[in-house]
Amino acid sequence: MSAREVPLVYSPPARPLEVPADAVPPAGLIADTLGRPLRDLRISVTDRCNFRCGYCMPKQVFDKHHAFLPHAELLSFEEITRLARVFVGLGVEKLRITGGEPTLRRGLEALIAMLAELRTPDGRELDLTLTTNGSTLVKKAAELRAAGLKRLTVSLDGLDDAVFQRMNDVGFPVADVLDGIAAAQVAGLGPIKVNMVVQRGVNDDQILPMARHFRHSGVVLRFIEYMDVGATNGWRMDQVLPSRDVLDRIAAVFPLVPLSHSAPGETAERWAYADGAGEVGFISSVTQAFCGDCNRARLSTEGRLYTCLFATRGHDLRGLLRGPEAVSDDQLAAAVAQVWGVRTDRYSQLRGSGQAPQGERRVEMHYIGG
Ligand code: SAM
Ligand code: SF4
Ligand code: SF4
Repeated sequence: MSAREVPLVYSPPARPLEVPADAVPPAGLIADTLGRPLRDLRISVTDRCNFRCGYCMPKQVFDKHHAFLPHAELLSFEEITRLARVFVGLGVEKLRITGGEPTLRRGLEALIAMLAELRTPDGRELDLTLTTNGSTLVKKAAELRAAGLKRLTVSLDGLDDAVFQRMNDVGFPVADVLDGIAAAQVAGLGPIKVNMVVQRGVNDDQILPMARHFRHSGVVLRFIEYMDVGATNGWRMDQVLPSRDVLDRIAAVFPLVPLSHSAPGETAERWAYADGAGEVGFISSVTQAFCGDCNRARLSTEGRLYTCLFATRGHDLRGLLRGPEAVSDDQLAAAVAQVWGVRTDRYSQLRGSGQAPQGERRVEMHYIGG
């Protein structure tokens, strides 16, 4: 990619949203054109990261041709909480804080505390979680727990230091992430999930060591197929190791039995070790698309609403929060419902049948939130 193709500050084109002053929020739950409800909101709190995983923020692009969003462009914690409350009113029950590396956002515990106060319309607590690369957990796990975080997902792509450092591309040691996971367990965060993105020929030799390491630990290890998100990772199908192959490699050593899906919209296929050593999961966005019950929306770092991980444009919610165009909560709810109501996204299914939309540049995962 040449410098000219990358905007100075990464901010993809947005769709403006217009809401009539007398707009009313929908009376009940909302569904998109394929009947999918809105249940899960992923919130990117920063587009920055201290890692440079090649599948997400390759160094040659993000250290050279990229400028991150200035602080004033980011949603404030109050703005995020206000939007989250509106989404919860429309049916969202799960909030995932992500990024970039979310724990780099200064004062994140304050946001966690604000979001932990939210309740569903019938008074239930939300499923509030965080995805992190684990690099700051030794320092931050206890304060995140104290702020009201219940559980979290840590990304870890191998146990061998040379392989892991090549994956994160900043020389970050495995031991520090493992210490972070231990700190999270001590702090009472659980259940902890560990996500491993598998790239054939890059870290697939780490599948068995990772499985062995996390057996009997209470941690649920999940293998993610390498995806064609964004436009900078140089994705190639021959680097995707299908989940079926990962499963076969593990089952050949540690027999597995299938478990049922835990909830509609759950991305992972769950399996248990036959000897009772715990559970593993497989997230197969490439070989077994799960668009059919996808109930996820994403809020980008600067407040745009995306209805698919592979989207090219988001809807500008921040514009409805600030300045002369600011609207009421009812209008916000009506605007979100309007966007969700016309949603047709099913990129992964279309990719599987060779019909994936081409053309406009897809948004980057660190900006939209993983
Ligand atoms: N920085 C945090 C982390 O790494 O956990 C949170 C953000 S990261 C974008 C969220 C998740 O997306 C991580 O588990 C990461 O491994 C995954 N991810 C990023 N790029 C990916 C890709 N091309 N294919 C599959 N998973 C990817
Ligand atoms: Fe950073 Fe997470 Fe992307 Fe890796 S996957 S570069 S840790 S945002
Ligand atoms: Fe959902 Fe889009 Fe992923 Fe399909 S491709 S599961 S619609 S985020």
